[in-house]
Amino acid sequence: MSKHVTHWIGGKSFAGVAERRGDIYEPASGRLAGTVDFAAQAEVDAAVAAAKDAFPGWRDTSLSKRARVLFKFRELLEGHRDELARLISSEHGKVVSDAAGEVARGLEVVEFACGIPHLLKGGFSENVSTRVDAYSILQPVGVAAGITPFNFPAMVPMWMFPVAIACGNTFVLKPSEKDPSASVRVAELWAEAGLPDGVFNVLHGDKTAVDGLLHHPDVKAVSFVGSTPIARYIYATAAANGKRVQALGGAKNHMLVLPDADLDLAADAAVSAGFGSAGERCMAISVVVAVDPVGDELMARVRERVARLKIGPGDHPGSEMGPLVTAAHRDKVASYLDGAVAQGAELAVDGRDPEVLGGAGDGFWLGPTVLDHVTPEMDAYKDEIFGPVLSVVRAESYEAAMELISANPYGNGTAIFTNDGGAARRFQNEVEVGMVGVNVPIPVPMAYYSFGGWKDSLFGDSHAHGMEGVHFYTRTKAVTSRWLTVSHPDGHAPPPPGS
Ligand code: NAD
Repeated sequence: MSKHVTHWIGGKSFAGVAERRGDIYEPASGRLAGTVDFAAQAEVDAAVAAAKDAFPGWRDTSLSKRARVLFKFRELLEGHRDELARLISSEHGKVVSDAAGEVARGLEVVEFACGIPHLLKGGFSENVSTRVDAYSILQPVGVAAGITPFNFPAMVPMWMFPVAIACGNTFVLKPSEKDPSASVRVAELWAEAGLPDGVFNVLHGDKTAVDGLLHHPDVKAVSFVGSTPIARYIYATAAANGKRVQALGGAKNHMLVLPDADLDLAADAAVSAGFGSAGERCMAISVVVAVDPVGDELMARVRERVARLKIGPGDHPGSEMGPLVTAAHRDKVASYLDGAVAQGAELAVDGRDPEVLGGAGDGFWLGPTVLDHVTPEMDAYKDEIFGPVLSVVRAESYEAAMELISANPYGNGTAIFTNDGGAARRFQNEVEVGMVGVNVPIPVPMAYYSFGGWKDSLFGDSHAHGMEGVHFYTRTKAVTSRWLTVSHPDGHAPPPPGS
């Protein structure tokens, strides 16, 4: 049966008829599963108006009441984790356990936001001058918009809205049009948790919806996560329209393997971080930099593990890696393979025509692929491929490897595998990348730290969630106050000396 996904505005499903719609696929079968409404300017205006109307009431809702709604939302998310994971898997393609993992990581941000009464405490300085006190208050900014990518349809939006809403803002989420259903289910859970209508809205669509939000005078803050060219555009456009903006972009994450590393650990890490979620993760390892002479030995262990990976539909109990999100994306990823070989790389593992549990049918499949002897001039090295393609670069020394990683225009995540604490310390100190792992391939910060890369992986100066998220979604007001006399001295307090 074909599904139809529409906007969630002002606490209910949008009742109008969309002028344009997009297709939603089931990547494992290649079947057209349904359609999603694309917002025109009228729907953008309706969603922003609903959020604007809800703002005064939510801003003035007590901190403990806001926290109670968040606690209830947390319970509901936990209770519906499996349902959400299956929904995500059906539209994205990732295996259900991986989808459940992304819901769990989003839940951690909700748990962080449950502590909002503590997080919003300002500072207070008594007697900055005689009988003068100074203090600061963190106030919400108003209507915030979130624009999110296809690869984490639950987790990435949850980097944003739990913190924004906890801080007293209202929110319009524009999720990826490729896998839009999880956002609507989340909106229903918010309503069940008692969030007032209009505080959380979901607007579906493409560039038209995004541009409508970027130019809307009532949108005060924009959070974006997606590819670098769009992140750059969002940053420039939102800032030109006077909004605060954080725009997280693409990635090319390197894993440095030193000769003294535990090679089994490194090979396990390269394979799970390279091919988990079919490489469609912003923190996926896409380049292994093997420092001489460890390359051949590491490659042998990587090949061994890749040969054992089970490819299949996300809901097949034996699957370890699912299909890619669309046929067009699969074809684009696969197009790098011949190009890389023509440019001199060695196709160590060819993932085209993979063996698929239950049969490949018309699904959007590409198996794990390994390119060896990749060099920095090759397109497969320079571009963010965003699929199950692991490139291996051989480096003659630690210095050469470090220079390569720091010179890359992206700076999202990186990892070093070594048993030398001094080398690891030097790496985390010197590398020009925002998130660093030491013998940990995907160093995603916990919710109480903040997530974000450097260079072309982030435009703006605040990272997502954690205290940087609280700062992004609040404005600081500094108050200086002087009270000279006691207004009602009788029965309350004696007047201060000399008054
Ligand atoms: P994308 O940039 O194509 O789309 C992201 C969002 O922008 C979507 O909601 C989409 O509808 C919208 N959009 C697309 N084209 C637009 C345009 N021309 N104008 C305005 N809006 C537009 O990204 P994607 O393919 O959905 O996701 C994959 C990308 O996201 C990868 O590059 C990945 O590295 C990146 N990503 C980064 C992080 C991070 O934390 N840095 C996290 C997850 C994903």
